[in-house]
Amino acid sequence: VSDLPEPLQAELARVAGLPRVMVCSDFDGTLSQIVLVPDDARPIAGAVATLDGLARLPETECVLISGRTVAALGQLSGAGPDIVLVGSHGAEFSTGFATQVDDDQRALRERILSATTAIADDVAGVRLEVKPISVAVHVRQTAPDQAEQVLAAVRSGPATWPGVHVTEGKQVIELAVQPVDKGTAIESLREQFGADAVVFLGDDVTDERGFAVLAPGDIGIKVGDGATAAQYRVADPESALSALDVLLSGRRAQRP
Ligand SMILES: [Mg+2]
Repeated sequence: VSDLPEPLQAELARVAGLPRVMVCSDFDGTLSQIVLVPDDARPIAGAVATLDGLARLPETECVLISGRTVAALGQLSGAGPDIVLVGSHGAEFSTGFATQVDDDQRALRERILSATTAIADDVAGVRLEVKPISVAVHVRQTAPDQAEQVLAAVRSGPATWPGVHVTEGKQVIELAVQPVDKGTAIESLREQFGADAVVFLGDDVTDERGFAVLAPGDIGIKVGDGATAAQYRVADPESALSALDVLLSGRRAQRP
């Protein structure tokens, strides 16, 4: 706890005492270390226990929000049933209201898949991830010069098509057939839950859309380096977990 900035600790203590609180966290790089093989990602020790603890508190919503599919997020995180899972950057919700995909969008996703398959062909280490409304092209395991060529071909190719919504992250470019982002998802969850404050933690470029929708009185925590609109920054997933632990213990103490 001592590694958290003093103003952040004070804000977490204040929010812990509010009636209805929603905690949203990214997974990869925020509550897990970034790994070379995406399926090897696991939450850091203690993370799931803290998330479950928050989720079980009354008037407290606990959300994991990720670029991964809901299925992969549930499996890799080991999150219990009390934790709401939001996948595909906000296009899929474990609570049921997944985005509707029409025939045109499904056809567009197939065209995107064909084009990205052609681009990735013969390049070692490129991984295509097909999700309900998007195709993500991962180049983390690709040689750096080839990775840049693949990303450039995607940017100048299918990424320019009408109806395609582009999200770039670290070593990944994602092409979606609907506009989705974590900010829209957080806003809609906030409204449904009626949260008095939102706490959001994230490490990547895509999380900036989430920080952008936070209001005065909310808490945004950027994990690691890089430009950010978040008010607070912590160094690593361990410190991110410390922040969640401060919130959990504060809420337990103030709302017995
Ligand atoms: Mg992340």
